[in-house]
Amino acid sequence: MNLTNKPHKFHVASLFLASCVVYLATAFTAHAFFVESQAATKGILKTIVIDPGHGGEDTGAIGPTGIKEKDVNLNIAKELEKLIIQRVDAIVLLTRTDDTFVSLDERTNVANKNNADIFISIHANASYRKGAGGVETYFLSFDASDEDAKRAAAFENAVASFENKAVKTNIDDLKTILMDMAQTSVLNESSQFAEIVQENLCKVLKVENRGIKQAPFIVLVGAAMPAVLVEVGFISNANEEKRLTEKETQRTIAEAILKSILTFDGILRAKMEYALE
Ligand SMILES: [Zn+2]
Repeated sequence: MNLTNKPHKFHVASLFLASCVVYLATAFTAHAFFVESQAATKGILKTIVIDPGHGGEDTGAIGPTGIKEKDVNLNIAKELEKLIIQRVDAIVLLTRTDDTFVSLDERTNVANKNNADIFISIHANASYRKGAGGVETYFLSFDASDEDAKRAAAFENAVASFENKAVKTNIDDLKTILMDMAQTSVLNESSQFAEIVQENLCKVLKVENRGIKQAPFIVLVGAAMPAVLVEVGFISNANEEKRLTEKETQRTIAEAILKSILTFDGILRAKMEYALE
């Protein structure tokens, strides 16, 4: 019995070892493929700056149950950072990584100093109309596109009062900056990116599409790259406030913005290849 058992045990052990080798080889190949497919996503957007709006003493808007906009913004930004690290071969920087106050100028400076290719400011909206809901994506302009846009910019700019700075100077500078920017493609690209983000977010969140808008947001002034400000929902709306605190919604929003970054990168790449032809 012993004699017949031994080869049998040996056989089982060999089979086990062989399976391990096959498993490891498959895992290694899969890993190699994953690394390769990650490298394949290297694109035009090499440095991405995400700006979680507000922070510290500046809470941003506060929802009916006391949820603070600054916390929602930071959670979404961190989720987006995680996704970019996993799926895009790009450097990703956050203007703040915790609950600290960062001035509006400093936020844009982070993008400029690091030669960012894109700047995305994440916010949640608020309205005196309790039922107001949906997504809005903004890019910079001296004139607000409507009354709501004017109010949104006034609210987001109000933080400048924490900085002991004259908001007026910033707004005056804006006209000169915009005239310079108009000569470049930055504004056009910002509007194009805003449109992609807006469409993707509305599609996944299944909310009212309030459209892309323009307004004089101080945080977008001076950004030397395509820059948008996304209002991902209304924290003043009880339903949306609840949704925005859910991890799943935050992840869905981050996924939609990531998808938009990849689409925009493709557009920029095609434009560059066309120019080189
Ligand atoms: Zn805000």
